[in-house]
Amino acid sequence: MGHGSIRIFVGARLAAGSSVAATAEQAHYLLRVMRRREGERVALFNGTDGEWAAALATEGRSLRFAVRERLRTQAPDADLWLAFGLLKRDATDLVVRQATELGVARICPVLARRSQGERVNLERLRAIAIEAAEQCERLTLPAIDAPEPLAALLAAWPRGRRLVALLERAPAAGIRPAAGAAGLLVGPEGGFAPEEIAELRCHDFIDPASLGPRILRAETAAIAGLAQMQAGI
Ligand code: SAM
Repeated sequence: MGHGSIRIFVGARLAAGSSVAATAEQAHYLLRVMRRREGERVALFNGTDGEWAAALATEGRSLRFAVRERLRTQAPDADLWLAFGLLKRDATDLVVRQATELGVARICPVLARRSQGERVNLERLRAIAIEAAEQCERLTLPAIDAPEPLAALLAAWPRGRRLVALLERAPAAGIRPAAGAAGLLVGPEGGFAPEEIAELRCHDFIDPASLGPRILRAETAAIAGLAQMQAGI
C-alpha cells in the first residue's frame, strides 16, 4: 500500500484474516464520498494492534473490512498531556485537533475562573480526535477527560509528571523540552486569575514558563507550547 491511503480507526481487535464491520458513517464515507469499491484497500488502526491493510467487502448496503497484513507495529507514544482552560467551541475543537496531531496522549479541559463555558460534548471531541489521528498517521487516540476545576486537576496531578504552566506577562523562563512524563497547562482566553497564578506558583511539580513578549491566543499558545515540548521527545 502506498503512502496516503485512507486510514480508518476501528474499535475492534485487528489480526490477519479477521473481518470488521464498518460503521454506517465509514461505509458512507468510503463508498459514497471517496467512491471506493469492493476489493480496494484501506489501512485500519485501533490504538493497540498497530496498522493493518484491509480490503473492502460489500454486503448489500453494508460494508466490512477484510483484514490482511500488518503494515506497522504499535509503538509507544510520547508521554505528553495537555490541560487547557476551556475555550469557546471552535477554539476547543481546534485545540483538540491540533493536540492530537502533535501526539498528546491525554487532553484535560479545565474549568478556570475565566473559562468560557462549562460543558463539552465529549463524543464530538472524540470524533474530532479520531479524524485527526486518521489523517496524521498516528496509531493511537488521545484520552479526553470531562472538564474539571483547576484545583481538582492539580490535586490529582501525578507528582512525578512535570507540568509546564504557560503564564503571559510574567517573568518566567522559556519552555525546556520534555524528557519523560510531562504536561502543558494553558490558561483560558481571559488568562488565569491572580489567585490561580498564586496557586500555580506554589507547587514543586509546576514550572511556570513564557512564550515570549507577545500575548498569544490560547489556541496559539497551546500549539506553540506543545511543539516546543515535543522538540525534546
Ligand atoms: N487576557 C490575557 C491578557 O490580556 O493578559 C491573555 C490571556 S492569553 C490570550 C491565554 C493563555 O495563553 C494564557 O493564560 C497563557 O496560558 C497563554 N499565553 C498567551 N501568550 C503567552 C505568552 N507570551 N507566554 C506564556 N503564555 C502565554
